[in-house]
Amino acid sequence: MNKIDFDVLKAYLVDKESHRYIQENILHIDAPKRGGGFKTMEILHSYGVKKEHKGVLAKYNVNEDNIISLLNESNQNLDEINSNDNYIEGATQVRLVNSYERNPEARKKCISIFGAICQACGFNFNKVYGQAAKGYIEVHHIIPISTLKKGYTVNPEKDLVPLCSNCHSVAHKKNPPYSVAEIKAMIAS
Ligand SMILES: [Zn+2]
Ligand SMILES: [Zn+2]
Repeated sequence: MNKIDFDVLKAYLVDKESHRYIQENILHIDAPKRGGGFKTMEILHSYGVKKEHKGVLAKYNVNEDNIISLLNESNQNLDEINSNDNYIEGATQVRLVNSYERNPEARKKCISIFGAICQACGFNFNKVYGQAAKGYIEVHHIIPISTLKKGYTVNPEKDLVPLCSNCHSVAHKKNPPYSVAEIKAMIAS
């Protein structure tokens, strides 16, 4: 792992810094108020780090050798929480993505099939935010985790779908999630 990636991961996982703060102070790239922090997000995503990981290693003494295994351990804990429920209710609702949505291989396959375009509303991060957000999209796992059998392997074409952050949040407003067709209908009405 290179030094910059480590500093970015540490700032997010241990020091709970914001995407924008990291972008300005560690990556030394401008981070405008709107859409700032996408470079940070890109690096974090390449390690499977998402919103729910912020500060997750706050109590640990991390270094370049142990940070990934500590992150994996925290993922297992998050998966356990996630297998019971897709939400943690609270003042600010945090949506936990499941491990299939985080799986980088499956994500890549899904995006190569559908493109980095929201399949519900057509949102394209690259078009709206420009180069900094190129290729950014969230990947949603259509099948509710609770119905999966042991030994299940994800089918990136049938089981996963790229969604923008808004549509993805709406999808998880109920459990099992709203279908893409249902979200399309909401937008159309
Ligand atoms: Zn969308
Ligand atoms: Zn999802």
